[in-house]
Amino acid sequence: MTPIEKRNELLAGKVIKSLKARHIEGFYCASCEEAVKQVLSLIPSGSIVTWGGSMTIRDMGLTEALHQDGNYHVLDRDQAKTPEEAQAIYRQAFGADVYLSSANAMSEQGDIVNIDGNGNRVAAIAWGPKKVIFVVGVNKIAKDLDAAVKRARGTAAPINTTRLNRDTPCTLDGVCHDCHSPNSICNQIHIIRNSYDNGRFCVVLVGEELGY
Ligand code: SF4
Repeated sequence: MTPIEKRNELLAGKVIKSLKARHIEGFYCASCEEAVKQVLSLIPSGSIVTWGGSMTIRDMGLTEALHQDGNYHVLDRDQAKTPEEAQAIYRQAFGADVYLSSANAMSEQGDIVNIDGNGNRVAAIAWGPKKVIFVVGVNKIAKDLDAAVKRARGTAAPINTTRLNRDTPCTLDGVCHDCHSPNSICNQIHIIRNSYDNGRFCVVLVGEELGY
């Protein structure tokens, strides 16, 4: 095991312990390949599964694995042919069994931070599908909640506006200006700080750089 691998495992162990105190189950997978298997093992056969906008879960091959598995009813907005179809899938997501998402940042203490423009993702996370599984690269773990919010706003959001080619100040210089632009993707900021002890949330941490 390399020093980086050892450090990732130790850091993930600390976060998983913190999550447990907040009634959230955590898992650590050293690679994306392991993480895909771990996530599939958490989803009962026959489940209705969907996800929020996330480069992580696409890049790691999870969405493709769900389609290929054949045992799930997958609601995939990327397959929508019109904006109306995509909107319909956003709404159907609330009735899904399992919702997959990454996070824009996490704290070492187990806070989970997400920023949203439309609000469909944070709404589904807050109250919607029966189970929410977060898949998070260790690169998104910040020292504390303050640093996690700063990471989400100062790093993840400007990269996402660039990816989405939004007409926002941060797309021009890569720095958050705390704008009120109508094109901002930072309309809603959601923090999970605790959970009921009902198994609704779980987090799969991955020892690879994933997402932004
Ligand atoms: S400048 Fe606006 S859109 Fe860009 S990261 Fe800051 S608040 Fe979000």
